[in-house]
Amino acid sequence: MDSFIETGLKPEIIAAITDMGFEKPTPIQVKAIPQLLTSDRDIIALAQTGTGKTAAFGLPTVHLTEVSDRSTQTIILCPTRELCLQIAKDLNNFAKKIKGLNVLAVYGGTSIDTQIRALKKGAQIVVGTPGRTKDLINRRRLNLENVERVVLDEADEMLTMGFKDDLDAILSATPSDKTTLLFSATMSREVLRISKDYMDDPIEIKVAKMNVGATNVKHIYHQVQARDRYEVIKRIADMNPDIYAIIFCRTRRETMEVANKLMYDGYNADVLNGDLSQGQRDEVMGKFRQKQIQILVATDVAARGLDVDDLTHVINYNLPDDPEVYVHRSGRTGRAGKSGISIAVIHSRETNKLRDIDRKSGIQFTKEPVPNGIDICQTQLMSLIDKVKSVDVDEKTIEQFMPSIYEKLEHLDREELIKHFVSTEFNRFLDYYKNARDINIPDRGDRRNERRSRDERRRTPYTRLFINVGASNRLDPGRLIGLINQGLDSGNAGIGKIEILRNFSFFEIEQGIENDLIDALKGRNFEGVPLSVEVSQEKRSSGGDRGGRGYGGGGGHRKGGSDRRRGGGDRRSGGERRSGGDSKRRRRRKV
Ligand code: ADP
Ligand code: MG
Repeated sequence: MDSFIETGLKPEIIAAITDMGFEKPTPIQVKAIPQLLTSDRDIIALAQTGTGKTAAFGLPTVHLTEVSDRSTQTIILCPTRELCLQIAKDLNNFAKKIKGLNVLAVYGGTSIDTQIRALKKGAQIVVGTPGRTKDLINRRRLNLENVERVVLDEADEMLTMGFKDDLDAILSATPSDKTTLLFSATMSREVLRISKDYMDDPIEIKVAKMNVGATNVKHIYHQVQARDRYEVIKRIADMNPDIYAIIFCRTRRETMEVANKLMYDGYNADVLNGDLSQGQRDEVMGKFRQKQIQILVATDVAARGLDVDDLTHVINYNLPDDPEVYVHRSGRTGRAGKSGISIAVIHSRETNKLRDIDRKSGIQFTKEPVPNGIDICQTQLMSLIDKVKSVDVDEKTIEQFMPSIYEKLEHLDREELIKHFVSTEFNRFLDYYKNARDINIPDRGDRRNERRSRDERRRTPYTRLFINVGASNRLDPGRLIGLINQGLDSGNAGIGKIEILRNFSFFEIEQGIENDLIDALKGRNFEGVPLSVEVSQEKRSSGGDRGGRGYGGGGGHRKGGSDRRRGGGDRRSGGERRSGGDSKRRRRRKV
């Protein structure tokens, strides 16, 4: 079905949705609309967030409404006030060209009297949260005796949120021959329970799981120690000055912790969770929609019903236990034709969760290193420069101050002047990041480590060390990394290129800790050989092969390195694969 005309919906409705920019029905709409228009069987409809479920039940509901009858014919129940308002707004838009059709939202946290007055005028479609709806029924202000259709939107969530008793009460106030429609993103235990308790031989309609290749979402993960999770968030935010993101946490407490830290660190962030009052939630959501808040830290439940189309990132501070929840979360970015990134922050033992998600949904993750200090400084610096370039200059007003400015800055030449202005804004990042450590967990295994180190090497200043054991001592890269980590008592040290030779080896270690490591390994035994480690005197094969030049960092021993600067393009030299560690090839490689 390629157009709404074929669905048989009234021309007024089709005209209204055409105004809204709906060109053709989404897959769930293709399945649900004709079914609802032609039969009154109960339906369970399952489709991911953002697939147009509201219109799937909303359009037939509007179509089937008898306008001359003022009584309530459809009751739509949903878990939160925000969803309630959104659904009512959507339905009002669908019914825009139909005179006399009233849609009313009823929800808690606001005056019941206003809602009672509105009900008196008659609303053929009522959209309510369970609590307030029940309340209105008990006060005999809402009469559901003529209801033909009950829609349970985000049904599983309503049960999770403890609305079971309210639902029981509401449904028992409706006629037994009504049609019950259940919409949910996931088929959970709760959904099954509802279908058993409230539905009569329902038809299940379902649209295929997200075809990942067809969407615009890129799924990546960063692997760090659990204690570095927050640092990752900070770096992602710093790496993306225009970020507009939701960070999902598992618990309310965690949302508070993360949001507080972000706010304390000066980010434009806030928290959305079930501990907030209705008013507070509205305020936060409003600000987020208007982008006054860039980063929203939320629980899954609280973020339901927050419909924003243009998130740049979805960040999983923790992966959910249920893969479907991940699909759900990540479906919030890459919408409306835009591209998006979904990031999972995981620790070393969580890769099985990624595999689980892959198995159930076909989503494949790419591991990416956490942005390091130099990348971030570069990005921030360029963002600052762009701002300087594009700022509006009020020539007239500034004119009068120019003479005194000139006088003060007279002794600085152009280059110095630029440095000064840039530093005014930029020193904060520079100070924080110039010695930032690598927080990635090194991969196990030779090849993968090689790949990682290739990325790292270009960014982190390293010192090359010699160690007096090699392949003949059964040293391999894995064991060497183990040795280093043991010596330093950490898994965080930046390790660069490793070259295992027959009787000795070379490896690179993040600058500044080489002496600690040399001391730590001195006198240790490896396969019966007392270890000796020292800074390699051998000439470096390519001095310019690493980034980090000039960012304040350490010693001047890297003289003569070529002045490589990154051009902001792709830093991973596309798909290059090497397994060995031979330095000749490295010399050849241009980055
Ligand atoms: P869901 O309830 O499945 O999460 P929504 O009903 O909130 O999804 O719809 C998500 C977005 O898609 C909304 O902005 C909605 O206006 C839009 N939308 C729905 N159906 C269509 C359609 N057929 N064509 C274009 N946009 C649509
Ligand atoms: Mg919905």
